[in-house]
Amino acid sequence: MDCIFCKITGKEIPADILFEDDSLMVFKDIHPSAPVHDLIVPKEHIASIASLQGNHRDLLAHMIYTAKDTAEKLGLKGYKLVFNVGREGGQVIDHLHLHMLGGWNPIKQKKEIDAMPHPRLDK
Ligand code: AMP
Ligand code: ZN
Repeated sequence: MDCIFCKITGKEIPADILFEDDSLMVFKDIHPSAPVHDLIVPKEHIASIASLQGNHRDLLAHMIYTAKDTAEKLGLKGYKLVFNVGREGGQVIDHLHLHMLGGWNPIKQKKEIDAMPHPRLDK
């Protein structure tokens, strides 16, 4: 299957990897939409939230807890977690991934934060 995120999790192509375990990988988004923009990506090829099955509940919880742990390690006080679902939902890569966005300066950029989801994720 010609899936870029399968290739990254399978180490066929490089990425800036922050964390990895048996079931998922966290790497930096190549075109960041925020000062911190990481992707939490399961190793299993699942097309999107819309294709989840009953046996994926633990995996989904693990993705969200991994986002929380990553945010804590990076010292983020606040962040946004986004799943784009389907073309109409702005999804471009058909391999499930959770966007973690943060790192804005809350004083200087209040308007931008209020305007989130970020325009690039709002496609
Ligand atoms: P989505 O629109 O939810 O499918 O988001 C896909 C995300 O993957 C985008 O934010 C892209 O910038 C990001 N992306 C695409 N190719 C790569 C890559 N090779 N490494 C890291 N991130 C990527
Ligand atoms: Zn895949």
